[in-house]
Amino acid sequence: MTSNEDQDHMVPKSHPRYESIKYRHKIIDGMKNLVVAEAGLIAHGRGECFDYILGEKTTETAKKAIEAAVASILLADRPIISVNGNVAALVPDELVILSNILNTPLEINLFYHKKGRINAIKKVLQKAGASVIYGTDPKKMIDLNGLDSNRKKVEFIANADLVMVPLEDGDRTEALKKLNKKVIAVDLNPLSRTAIWADITIVDNIVRTIPEMIKAAQKLKKLDKTKLEMIVNNFNNKLNIQNTLNLILEYIEKQKENAFAAVKF
Ligand code: ATP
Ligand code: MG
Repeated sequence: MTSNEDQDHMVPKSHPRYESIKYRHKIIDGMKNLVVAEAGLIAHGRGECFDYILGEKTTETAKKAIEAAVASILLADRPIISVNGNVAALVPDELVILSNILNTPLEINLFYHKKGRINAIKKVLQKAGASVIYGTDPKKMIDLNGLDSNRKKVEFIANADLVMVPLEDGDRTEALKKLNKKVIAVDLNPLSRTAIWADITIVDNIVRTIPEMIKAAQKLKKLDKTKLEMIVNNFNNKLNIQNTLNLILEYIEKQKENAFAAVKF
């Protein structure tokens, strides 16, 4: 019993945490298929924790960041979306749709290398319909300056002007920024180094963000350059993260009362 379908049968749809459990199983299946690193399970758990205190919804601040992110990608000369194991396991189909709508290629970039992992991720993306996938041929890769981890190996990213990094490690975000690249991060932790270093930080679950980005892309693609620039210039990342922290505080404050409403002693 390892496939998603089998696991889904074990979790009744009526379960109050069905969605959360469904994505856990996608991560577990991903680990069994080499797509997700063992540490990816722990990273997912950290994400779940932050999602809980955001109310497990895409907030208004996340929507603002999503608009600015999509506008920036549409304005960029050489944008790229970096893909790691967790993202490939959670939202491969949606990721490929987004990549096509925004005309922005995908590049596999991993913190943990294991024989066969890149190929496993490549297969998942191809099955989802991706035609061009960078980061799969070691002969074409070069080392990014200022980084010691495996994530320094890059292909298209080396000459990109904008890199979208869902579920990124802080070290690489910092290195990309030091190379003057615009960085868009998706990270449920508003206080991670990635969140703080990025130009645009989407504090949201990647499983909700990518579909929201697809919707935003369909809308913003119709706008001219001046309007897109206005959206980007009106966005202030520091303020947006601070507002996100306020939303978390407000949510927790409300839960002090609401969380007990359904409990009958
Ligand atoms: P940093 O290196 O940026 O300081 P970190 O070391 O605390 O962060 P990492 O393990 O490097 O964290 O990266 C994983 C990050 O991805 C965590 O901040 C976690 O909240 C986030 N994350 C995990 N799952 C998701 C998800 N489904 N959607 C969005 N973010 C997620
Ligand atoms: Mg880290």
